[in-house]
Amino acid sequence: MRQNKHSLETIVSNVPIILWSLDQAGTFTVCEGKGLEVLGVRPGQTVGRSIDEVCSGVPQIVADSRRALSGESTRSVIEYGDLAFECWCIPVRNPLGQVTGMMGVATDITGRLRVDRELASLRHHHDLILNSAGEGIYGLDRYGNITFANPAAAQMLGHLANEMIGKTVWDLIRPARSDGTPYHWETCPIFDTLKEGIDHHMSDDLYIRKDGSAFPVECVATPIRESDRIVGAVVVFKDLSSQKMQNAILEHHALYDDLTDLPNRTLLHSDLEQAISTGCHEREPFALLLMDLDRFKEVNDILGHQNGDYLLQQVGPSLRRVLGHDQKIARLGGDEFAVLLPGADMEEAIAVAQKILNALDQPFVVGGLSLGVGVSLGIVLFPEHGKDADTILRRAEVAMYVAKQTGSGYTIYTPGQDEYDRNRLTLLSELRHAIDHQEMILYYQPKLCLETGQVKGVEALVRWQHPRRGLVLPDQFVPFAEQTGLIRPLTLWVFRAALEQYKVWQQGGHMISLALNLSARILQDPQLLDQIKGMLDETGISPELLELEITEGSIMLEPGRSIEVLNRLSQIGAKISIDDFGIGYSSLAYLKKLPVSSIKIDKSFVIGMGSDEEDAVIVRSMIDLAHRLGLRIVAEGVESQEVLDRLVTLRCDEAQGFYIARPMPGPDFEPCTARHTGRFNGVPTRLASG
Ligand code: C2E
Ligand code: CA
Ligand code: CA
Repeated sequence: MRQNKHSLETIVSNVPIILWSLDQAGTFTVCEGKGLEVLGVRPGQTVGRSIDEVCSGVPQIVADSRRALSGESTRSVIEYGDLAFECWCIPVRNPLGQVTGMMGVATDITGRLRVDRELASLRHHHDLILNSAGEGIYGLDRYGNITFANPAAAQMLGHLANEMIGKTVWDLIRPARSDGTPYHWETCPIFDTLKEGIDHHMSDDLYIRKDGSAFPVECVATPIRESDRIVGAVVVFKDLSSQKMQNAILEHHALYDDLTDLPNRTLLHSDLEQAISTGCHEREPFALLLMDLDRFKEVNDILGHQNGDYLLQQVGPSLRRVLGHDQKIARLGGDEFAVLLPGADMEEAIAVAQKILNALDQPFVVGGLSLGVGVSLGIVLFPEHGKDADTILRRAEVAMYVAKQTGSGYTIYTPGQDEYDRNRLTLLSELRHAIDHQEMILYYQPKLCLETGQVKGVEALVRWQHPRRGLVLPDQFVPFAEQTGLIRPLTLWVFRAALEQYKVWQQGGHMISLALNLSARILQDPQLLDQIKGMLDETGISPELLELEITEGSIMLEPGRSIEVLNRLSQIGAKISIDDFGIGYSSLAYLKKLPVSSIKIDKSFVIGMGSDEEDAVIVRSMIDLAHRLGLRIVAEGVESQEVLDRLVTLRCDEAQGFYIARPMPGPDFEPCTARHTGRFNGVPTRLASG
């Protein structure tokens, strides 16, 4: 017994446990151990006292001890202040099995409990992170077997998380390169992480879902080490499908035209740069064709934007039908398109241009109408015409405008064309705005009757009061207006403004004629006639007072059609005059067939007749022939008294020119006429100078 007791005491005094025993009545028989003090119990003073008294501060010990005395073993964790004890209470029985007392053992588990709790909280956080992470996360052992997978990983891969566990990453996820070739397990970067412990970041891999479909991922593999040994890896991955799709959409948006889905200017520019760089390395030429629809603006204005858009959408497919597959089509904006011909020399470029001209000459059906829109093409060749994309594009544009200007269909760039006036291009874009915003004004130039010396009539000449450039003359914008369809609103504006001005003069009692210039292009507009009639009715001006000047050249462009339109115009009652006569290759005899009342000799002959005898002869014969045909004849461009005198001698009917009067604003004109409407003796004097 003594031996036993001694051993017990040795244990108790060296090991951090508390040991006690009670008799049946609950009185301490033993109470020993390190840490008793913390329970407020002093060793040695306890034996013989009741547990209820000694341990009143720790009711759980009392209760457990009492339960042991009633025959029940207990085990509980008892917290006391900052401390925690694990406490066993065991009944002590005599050989008959009757409870004669109990024994209790308590160990201090404060430290262990804290660690357990911290671990539990850590695990909780850990799970929280894994479960709520948007990224897929899975763990691998060192052989590549999956040891865990979070819900996001399972969901992205189309598996259940627990059916992934135990399978190898190569069997289940089958990582592949972005082009679809699967990694052999030894070539897979994850293998490298497991074998060499290297972190890997893969931004362009594919993972395979359970259903066999692949999706792009970005993933990071990090080794797991245990005391310098690699025991596995953690892989975090992100599904890039939607990001890639979004990027693709954005990229498409940035490089393709929304309306036609053709490459836009940006993409063409980079294709050009690409072509230039291969061209330089491999000495391969290429051609760029830039084109602009001739009558698109009319379609847009008359049939509306929706039909205009529809027409633009038809252009790409029409071009595609005549082009090869490596030849690129782009829409640069508006009705401007471009075609890039890799490897093409001049001959091939011209052949393609011809094909395009033919294709776009075929009528398109738009808004129920069949329309031939026509196209003008500028051709630029690399390397002859430029060695950088901007120059090539700019020169193609220049060539295109020359084609438009000359009506030649296509034009190959030549160096002189550059000066073909960037200013004019800008002017053009401002012109539409100008017509609607009162920037146009009319000047008037009198026509003098050489028989009476009276002002016979007045010609309206349009000018553009440009906010920055000042007064712009019609030669700078009328041809462009004709090519772009703006001639229609411009002509209507001129007619309206001139008729308004004419009404003012008429109220002052002057009955002179009003000459207006009509462009050939607008002659083909079926609504024009009605609109002119409407304006005459509105202003109450008699049609006989109206003189329409149409250039000889424009009539000769389409003689058959012109006769028809001129007939209809003269039926309204307006007089028709052939402008710029003598330079348009028509014969006077031909004019006999036209409903024409007068002819204006082009100013080049008139200006020249003072010094050039040949011009004088031409003018003389024109006057004679016109008179024989019963037509009045007008000389424009009279710049000197000498020429004026000669015209009187030659019996020219009317004269117009800077020497008589320069074109002037409407309000300046009236006093001038008033001063000179009286008869005078055969030879007229100047109306105004400067
Ligand atoms: P045009 O109809 O032959 O007009 C005569 C042009 O010669 C005018 O030029 C006039 O200012 C100029 N001129 C007049 N007398 C003399 C002279 O003694 N010497 C010289 N060197 N020139 C003289 P402007 O006003 O610059 O007009 C140029 C052309 O623009 C016109 O030629 C006409 O074809 C066109 N144009 C002018 N207004 C209109 C218009 O309202 N509609 C259309 N469709 N064309 C117009
Ligand atoms: Ca004229
Ligand atoms: Ca003229």
